[in-house]
Amino acid sequence: MHAFAYAAPATVAEAIEALHTAGPGSRLLAGGTTLYDLMKLEIETPRTVVDISRLAELSAVDTSRPDELRFGAGARMADVADDPILRRDYPALAESLSQAASPQLRNMATLGGNLLQRTRCSYFRGGPTFPCNKRDPGSGCAARGGLDRGHALFGASDACIATYPADWGVALLAFDASVDVTGPAGERTVALADLHVEPADTPQREHTLAADELIVRIRVPVTAAGKGSTYHKIRDRESYAFALVSAAAALTVDDRGVVEDCRIALGGVATRPWRSAAAEQAMIGTRLTAHSARRAGEIAFMDARPGTHNAFKVELGARTVADALQIAGKRAVR
Ligand code: SF4
Repeated sequence: MHAFAYAAPATVAEAIEALHTAGPGSRLLAGGTTLYDLMKLEIETPRTVVDISRLAELSAVDTSRPDELRFGAGARMADVADDPILRRDYPALAESLSQAASPQLRNMATLGGNLLQRTRCSYFRGGPTFPCNKRDPGSGCAARGGLDRGHALFGASDACIATYPADWGVALLAFDASVDVTGPAGERTVALADLHVEPADTPQREHTLAADELIVRIRVPVTAAGKGSTYHKIRDRESYAFALVSAAAALTVDDRGVVEDCRIALGGVATRPWRSAAAEQAMIGTRLTAHSARRAGEIAFMDARPGTHNAFKVELGARTVADALQIAGKRAVR
């Protein structure tokens, strides 16, 4: 591991000052569950680490407001996954947290850090043996023409096909969440849909935050679709594994079973959290049945562009969406 300077600010304002002074080579330390890994692998080599893990002002959670849910970016995943209101009224959000990583990691990892989790592409993490445009811009992409079983069907480019790995961001996208961000110029709000970016020809750029900004809180508008929701995650083993495919589904239905509101977001298959507006539109105004749910799943994956080893995710994805819609439908408010 490379030597680095360590800063432990006492307030968010001091943290911004430390980031700004340190410049682009700085990294925030929250839970440390990804940063330390990548530093040991020498994929991340920050000059300065700014430790925000003890800032109480980042950890407040309020799930009882009438207008929106508020989550401090420094709140721990395990604590929020166990929030009784969240589990009752927004099961997709709670499940996206409880199905992530392992209990030990969830006890450490924070909501903001998880939102910005870096890819698990094994070539990215494998070090300089493998060309990787994300790690070493301009070097190439070992996954193209390599083992791409876990790679993206949506949002990829010639430069990079790595998937966004986290679950929480996928569920948040289904609920039109936003993040409040602060930096030297003050606070601003970024829609979750605008937080992550597709790789295009700059895969090293993964989000729209400046190097001296940090996420303060995550906000989710209150919606009746929260109760009728699920996060359905399909993986190679039942725990401590990243999604091959996941679907966050949320809906409301009327007393005839006709879908009034429908949100569908996909994980494990795209370079960023991926919303399927076409599948949502196919469900709205339709009775929720096994057939209509299956049709929505097929629509969600209609534009998929598989590589050599990941075409199985197209059928798996259609089934995952269909199952998620039916689980959500059983919970939905009528
Ligand atoms: Fe690197 Fe992206 Fe290619 Fe993986 S898919 S090797 S992260 S450029």
